[in-house]
Amino acid sequence: MHTPHNEPERLRLLHDLQILDTPREPAFDRLTALAAELLDAPIALITLIDANRVWFKSAVGLDACQTGRDLSLCNHTVDSRRPLLIEDALADPRFAAPPLVSGAPHIRFYAGIPLMPDGRHVLGTLCVIDRRPRQLSASQLHLLETLAGQVEELLKLHHHRLLFDHESLRSQKRAARYEAIVRGAAAGIVRIDSQGHILEINDFALRLLGYQRDELLGSNVSRLMPMRWAVDHDQYLRNYHASGEAHIIGKGRRVEAQHRDGHAIPVHLAVSQVHYDDATQSCDFIGILSDLSEVQTANHLLERQQQLLGVLHRGLTDYQALMSGNRLWSFLKQALRELTRSDYALIGEVLTVDDQPALKIHAITDLSWDDASRQLMEQFKEGRMLLSNPNSLLGRVFADGQTVLRNDMQAHTPHSAFPPGHPALSNFLGVPILDQGEVIGMFAIANGAQPYSAELVEWLEPFISTCALLIKLYRQLNERDSFTEQLRQARDQAENASRAKSEFLSSMSHELRTPLNAILGFAQLLQNSQKYPLGERQQRQVEQIYKSGQHLLTLINEVLDLARIEAGQINLSIERIQLGDVLEDACTTLMPIARQYGIDLQLPQGLGSACWLQADYTRLKQVLINLITNAIKYNRAQGRVQLDCQRHDGCVRVVVRDTGIGIPADRLDQLFQPFNRLGAESGSIEGTGVGLALTRKLLELMDGRIGVRSEQGVGSEFWFELPHGEDATVGATEASRGRSETAPPALEEPEAPTLRVLYIEDNPANQRLLQELFEELDGFVLHCAHSAELGLELACSQPPQLILLDINLPGMDGYQAMQWLAGNPVTRAIPVIGLSASAMPDDLRKAAAAGFRAYLTKPLDIPRLLTLLDQFARTERA
Ligand code: ADP
Repeated sequence: MHTPHNEPERLRLLHDLQILDTPREPAFDRLTALAAELLDAPIALITLIDANRVWFKSAVGLDACQTGRDLSLCNHTVDSRRPLLIEDALADPRFAAPPLVSGAPHIRFYAGIPLMPDGRHVLGTLCVIDRRPRQLSASQLHLLETLAGQVEELLKLHHHRLLFDHESLRSQKRAARYEAIVRGAAAGIVRIDSQGHILEINDFALRLLGYQRDELLGSNVSRLMPMRWAVDHDQYLRNYHASGEAHIIGKGRRVEAQHRDGHAIPVHLAVSQVHYDDATQSCDFIGILSDLSEVQTANHLLERQQQLLGVLHRGLTDYQALMSGNRLWSFLKQALRELTRSDYALIGEVLTVDDQPALKIHAITDLSWDDASRQLMEQFKEGRMLLSNPNSLLGRVFADGQTVLRNDMQAHTPHSAFPPGHPALSNFLGVPILDQGEVIGMFAIANGAQPYSAELVEWLEPFISTCALLIKLYRQLNERDSFTEQLRQARDQAENASRAKSEFLSSMSHELRTPLNAILGFAQLLQNSQKYPLGERQQRQVEQIYKSGQHLLTLINEVLDLARIEAGQINLSIERIQLGDVLEDACTTLMPIARQYGIDLQLPQGLGSACWLQADYTRLKQVLINLITNAIKYNRAQGRVQLDCQRHDGCVRVVVRDTGIGIPADRLDQLFQPFNRLGAESGSIEGTGVGLALTRKLLELMDGRIGVRSEQGVGSEFWFELPHGEDATVGATEASRGRSETAPPALEEPEAPTLRVLYIEDNPANQRLLQELFEELDGFVLHCAHSAELGLELACSQPPQLILLDINLPGMDGYQAMQWLAGNPVTRAIPVIGLSASAMPDDLRKAAAAGFRAYLTKPLDIPRLLTLLDQFARTERA
């Protein structure tokens, strides 16, 4: 079978028609019947040429509904696209052979008009057939062509109907889908007309707003808005239509919708305008609402969470500021009120009073209603009132540790539970504050904006823990404060006791010295009286009186010294001093006693004079005298006392070695106890038992230490160490450098009168230093006094032109001396330069206030002193 070149396209068109194998249709049948009748033919067919068959859409005079394509005469039109006319098939060599001609239905005549609904492809034919040869007139052919045109129209109609059906199915589906989307959307959708009438509303919106559909359809959309917006809505739409000015159309924003029951619902509303008809310009509006209630709730939660965090953060970081005064409690109370949005709050601490829990309210919202209740509030606020009733609403919390939650106070709490006038409480929550199971505090809130709940208590858990922490901290700080206060009181007491003790001792010593002065004085008078010489026995007795008096005097002095050290009332003048000087000084004093006891007292060879140390001259001498006296006293006849000194590790060690009775090893630890004489009290050696205790204290005050080694019957070795001063040569160099490097000022003309300078100083090394300095200065003469008392006497008897006054002097100190000088008419005008090793800022301030002309600190700045002297000399001589 020949296949036309456009066969696939033709077949696709045919199949798209979806007409093959469809039932018979009267419209087609009427045309075949008409064709058969008008052309007087027994057979008329509307055929459609499929790939392998020719199917009859309508047939007159034939029972068959299709035939093979290769047998069919119609097929010939496919290629030619022209009518096919066979007047006598048997006579036509092209068609004589086919079986349809030679066999049934014995076709002799055939006239077929190709059907081309699209004008290009032949889909089939309208044909008439006869079993006898015939001719077709031109009008008959035209008739057949017209009918074929009608068939083509029917085919087109069929095709259009098909398309229409298809399209309407699609649009139905689309509509159904749209409907489903709108209905099932998880957002509210409302369609309104240009006047604001609701045309359509989906289930979500109905549910959200609490309406039935028929309640809303046709009504004005403004009924879904809160009143403040509803009243202006119609006007708003009118404005929009007139001016195009939009507030919400075309945009989305957060607004409030109104539920049927009146409550507001936060929503996001997006409105769009929809045009349907360009001609009428009519339009609808579609609003899409999203429910923001959950978002709002989440936002609220977040805000509250942040608020809680803020409170906790402040409580934990700012706790030091909060601990001062009552701020902690009022902060907690206020935080509680704000966090729980409650009108009233109280917070308190649980104390134990008479073994029972009691609540001390620290902060409470004022809910007073008359004078009496106001006073009560004041008492609460000041923490003066304790609540102890365990059966009250609060009692159940602080005494039993229960959480009490009431949202129905009016209904369940008898009115009599509150005093008349008490503000009505609608809800109440009391929560214990626990620390390791123990109730240490509680808080209560009332009249919250929302009912209280277990969730609220749970949410407040971090706040409650923070309260517990802060309360504990508060208690600890209070304990610390009261402990500090106790300590302060104890210290004050001790200071008072010590002051009283030293006052007692000084007055005692004064009281004792006065009669002792008489005892010793008269004893000496008696001893030495030429006029009334005593008998030998009386001499012995008076001597005893004298010795006992001396002993008493030593005891008084030592005890007083010890007491002054203990009371911290002793001032030392730590200076760089030469050990040799002190040793010599002490030995000179003690030599007569050594001789008296027959003891050989040996000074160190060499080193002593080259050794410098940091000490108070007078006190060091006292130490040496104590130790050497003991070494002499507790020696044997013809014994030896040897002094030695060594330098090591920044210290100078002085050793006092004797050949005496020694000290039992088991008593060495009692050696430095005051009044402990280690049994010597029963012997003949005089002593007070205070000397070594005092010695140790003095050494410690000078940053020194003392120790002992002793062997009974062989001797003892007492040693002490003190920080050593700079090397002797360095000191000397410094002093001389000071003088040589600074060109000595031209102090005076040769004929100028000599200026008298009085130097009050107890340290011989310092005295010697200035003496040497002044020896080189012309026009000055220097007088030294080793104590303030002596200096003042000299100042009065031979007033100098200038006084150099050391501050730390034994007995009267420099400040007292200065005061005395300033108060005395003879000495008032004499300028005084203060000299001291005390160089702290406080000392300098004190010196400035004391009225010194100048104040020099030690070690002395020699050039500065020389400058001062020069200035002084010039003004004196001017
Ligand atoms: P006292 O006034 O009794 O000498 P001290 O405090 O100076 O008081 O000494 C305490 C005691 O230590 C003395 O009574 C004595 O028993 C013992 N003691 C002190 N120095 C020596 C020493 N060099 N040799 C032996 N015993 C000593």
